[in-house]
Amino acid sequence: MNLIQPLDHDRFLMGPGGRLEVRGSICSSCSLRLHPARGKCPRCSEDMLETFITDPDGVIESFTVVHQKIERSLIDPPYALAEVKLTDGYRLRCISTDDLEVSIGSRVRLDTQQVETDSGPRLGLVFTLI
Ligand SMILES: [Zn+2]
Repeated sequence: MNLIQPLDHDRFLMGPGGRLEVRGSICSSCSLRLHPARGKCPRCSEDMLETFITDPDGVIESFTVVHQKIERSLIDPPYALAEVKLTDGYRLRCISTDDLEVSIGSRVRLDTQQVETDSGPRLGLVFTLI
C-alpha cells in the first residue's frame, strides 16, 4: 500500500494513521505562535520552540475563491483559499474544494483531504465549515 505524501513537507509531517501533522513554533519569550515554524521570533528575536498544532478550530480572516488555473499550482480550480486564525492563535493558509461559500468570520475546522495533482494524489490541509 502506498502512503500518500503531503503536499508540503516543510509545513506538515505525516503522523500516525496517515494524518497530516501541522508544524508550528512558539516563542519561548513572548509566546507568539507561527506557522510555518521558524527558528527565531520575528517579534522579539528570541528562540522559538517547534511544536505541532493541536486545536484544528478557527475562523476565516480573509479568503479568495480561485477560478483560474494558476501556473504550477498543484490544485485544480475552483477552490477557496483562506487565511484561518485558529483558536489558539496560529494563522495559516489552507484551501477547500468543497466549501466555496465562505465569508470572513466563518467558523472552520482544519482537516486533511486527498487532492489530485499532476503528480498523483497527495494529502493537503483543507478547511471545512462547522
Ligand atoms: Zn517572541
